[in-house]
Amino acid sequence: MNAFPPHNRTLPPSDGLTEAERARILAKAAAFAPPSMQDAEGRRELVGLSREELAAEMVAMGEKPFRAKQLWHWIYHQGARDFAAMSSIAKPLQARLAERFTIGRPGVTTEQTSTDGTRKWLFAFRDGQQVETVYIPDEDRGAVCISSQVGCTLSCTFCHTGTQRLVRNLGAAEIVGQFMAARDSYGEWPTPTGEDRRLLSNIVVMGMGEPLYNYENIAKALTIIMDHEGIGLSRRRITLSTSGVVPMMDKCGAELGVNLAVSLHAVTDELRDEIVPLNRKYPIAELLAACRRYPGASNARRITFEYVMLRGVNDSEAEAHELVRLLRGLPAKVNLIPFNPWPGAPYKTSTPEAVNRFAAILNDAGYSSPIRRPRGRDILAACGQLKTESERAKRGGAA
Ligand code: SF4
Repeated sequence: MNAFPPHNRTLPPSDGLTEAERARILAKAAAFAPPSMQDAEGRRELVGLSREELAAEMVAMGEKPFRAKQLWHWIYHQGARDFAAMSSIAKPLQARLAERFTIGRPGVTTEQTSTDGTRKWLFAFRDGQQVETVYIPDEDRGAVCISSQVGCTLSCTFCHTGTQRLVRNLGAAEIVGQFMAARDSYGEWPTPTGEDRRLLSNIVVMGMGEPLYNYENIAKALTIIMDHEGIGLSRRRITLSTSGVVPMMDKCGAELGVNLAVSLHAVTDELRDEIVPLNRKYPIAELLAACRRYPGASNARRITFEYVMLRGVNDSEAEAHELVRLLRGLPAKVNLIPFNPWPGAPYKTSTPEAVNRFAAILNDAGYSSPIRRPRGRDILAACGQLKTESERAKRGGAA
């Protein structure tokens, strides 16, 4: 059993949630809790433990707490996966650590690199569950898009992942592990410091799942990733994308302060109720009010609104003008995403003319609104598809 099951920890009373909201979120987290982080020999996984938990493990084995600092450096700065490589730790202690603990990574089921440089992994965890992680390169840097859940509860109608039922939440180790495994793949250890160039410069929590429905594990993982004595990625380089779990947005802003991206995709509640069903619980006005409250929402740290362009559904000029009206006064950027079709999808991609007209209206109103080029089309037609393809292969190629 995981010594620190997320559902056994209580959310602090200062989080602004009502009792009912808190109880509902904790019950959901418990129902979809990640598996134990002990292997068959009873060895505990160290990746994913907070500094305090790591220190407690050291004390429990009769070591001084400073050992946790050493281990932290080796695990998160050097990227060590083997205690025998930890030269500042004496050999007898290396052996005792190896008896009790592991420093793991998710298993790589597939790794594919697109002609445009995008790299995608299908990672497998201890219980065989799999998620996708994607590296999206830019000129001299790039973002790793990590998943937060296996499947998703939210069933957004344009999203391929939304067709896969929620299996479970990912644990902190599995979330940090995706980024660490991506770094392994690019040989980016030890953590670059100062002006050193790094390819994997940013993280977007935008893969499978709704991160704010797995907040405790996401928060723990991002706190580890931001720790300046380890991976050391600043909060400005991390963007968390949500479909609009309003009560948790406040908590995320107060506790993590990472950049926020919001999957908006519609400008009326009527349409958003349909394509992002979470809207029925947290409608557009409540969502935008939470965005306006989000700390640090300044011009330097604009909130990103994701808007998938669906032909004849949400891409009219009138809708662009309405979007401008809704966002008025909010430091915002709008990412326009031409819909990436998947088999059986109920939508078509907007025409380039419609996308350009929509973008021009937003730009004229002062909102940066880049049109996102589809990336990695040759290795994955739509987010969520790699996992589906793998499941199909396991079933023996049945369509
Ligand atoms: S868009 Fe995000 S929240 Fe919606 S179904 Fe897909 S993965 Fe889930």
